[in-house]
Amino acid sequence: MRRILSFVVLVFLASAFLAKAIPAQNETKQELQLSAPADSSEESMAQAAQVEQDKEERLQQAIKYQKAKNTLYFVDQGYGILFLVLFLFLGISAFLRRQIEKITRKRFWVVAFYTLLFLIIAFIVGFPTSYYGFSLEHKFELSNQTLLQWFGEELLGLLVIGIIALIVVEGIYLALKKAPRTWWIYVSVVFIGFTVVLVNLAPILILPLFNVYTPLPEGELRDRLVSLSHRANVEVENIFAMDMSKQTKKANAMFTGLGNTKRIVLGDNLVDEFTTDEVEVVIAHEMGHNLMHHIWWGILFSAILTGIGFFIIHLTGPRIITRFRNKLKIDDMADVAGLPLIFLIFVIYGLITMPVFPAFSRHMERQADKFALDMTQNKEAFISAMDELAYMNLADPNPSPIIEFLLYDHPPISKRIKFAEEYESGTK
Ligand SMILES: [Zn+2]
Repeated sequence: MRRILSFVVLVFLASAFLAKAIPAQNETKQELQLSAPADSSEESMAQAAQVEQDKEERLQQAIKYQKAKNTLYFVDQGYGILFLVLFLFLGISAFLRRQIEKITRKRFWVVAFYTLLFLIIAFIVGFPTSYYGFSLEHKFELSNQTLLQWFGEELLGLLVIGIIALIVVEGIYLALKKAPRTWWIYVSVVFIGFTVVLVNLAPILILPLFNVYTPLPEGELRDRLVSLSHRANVEVENIFAMDMSKQTKKANAMFTGLGNTKRIVLGDNLVDEFTTDEVEVVIAHEMGHNLMHHIWWGILFSAILTGIGFFIIHLTGPRIITRFRNKLKIDDMADVAGLPLIFLIFVIYGLITMPVFPAFSRHMERQADKFALDMTQNKEAFISAMDELAYMNLADPNPSPIIEFLLYDHPPISKRIKFAEEYESGTK
């Protein structure tokens, strides 16, 4: 449901400003290093057996966790579609618009109030699945958040989405009113510009609402990363640490922003748990995204997908409104009571094209992985970083091919490790 709330606004966008992340793992390793070296071989064998057992248990947990998350994803999609269909076909949407018109008949305000009320209703209706997502994180001991903290962030997220949605929806309905035949062209073009601005502003305006970002402190790690950036022939990029442990026990890093705001962000969990070699590989991966302009490619790709989506809405929307006039009670496409219909068409279009963006993203991730190996020539660190990511994040290293095809924007960990194992060093 959350995906529906944010569909037009954030789904494609999120991939651009949030998702260029590398997933990674490690607890056992450091604990092992810390514990005194075993004196007798018997002791070390027992310890090794313990580690193996621990790994196996963690793997089983990961499979269960990912299964639950995937199920939740599809249930959430179905639930969202059901909500939109009922909201439209029971005439609730038209009723809501009529109530607003009793207060004001000014077009701008009708659109604004309708959009906000719709978002709030969808937020409430979608609460059960959101809450289930939160409880899953606790069930698998991945969350560091209390219910109150989580709910606070949900409300903050709703506020951010509300502001962005207001701008987007007002824009769409202005275009629908002024240019009923060509609105989708204007909207698509403006949407690209808006996305670029938002991706640029997100790291300074939106992300800091949820976390604190601090420049990586001076020290060995920073020196290593600076020297890496010289070797990679890129400017010393801004590298930040982020208090990710505020929300989760998972580890992650990302490349985000655009132009003057682009930066590499390391989760504190990752900095704490990973060896310097491993962090270096992760950063090299993110530098690869930067050097190969992956955020721009992501925006371009999303823009094409979104543009086609708006065109499909233009083709199908008016027909659906005419065909079901009695039930929907929507005047025409320029009637804001048809907003859930725009969402509905977009969601179904999104389901049909579901494998497209992840496939493109997996391709970019593979390129970034290759870049990381080229730069560091450190297969071992790459592989252990991957193992650690899987361990900490409860990633299923071997998802079913269908799930990978539909949902994975990164190659599964097992494939990334295999890629590194088969990597011929010295190609650079
Ligand atoms: Zn990546």
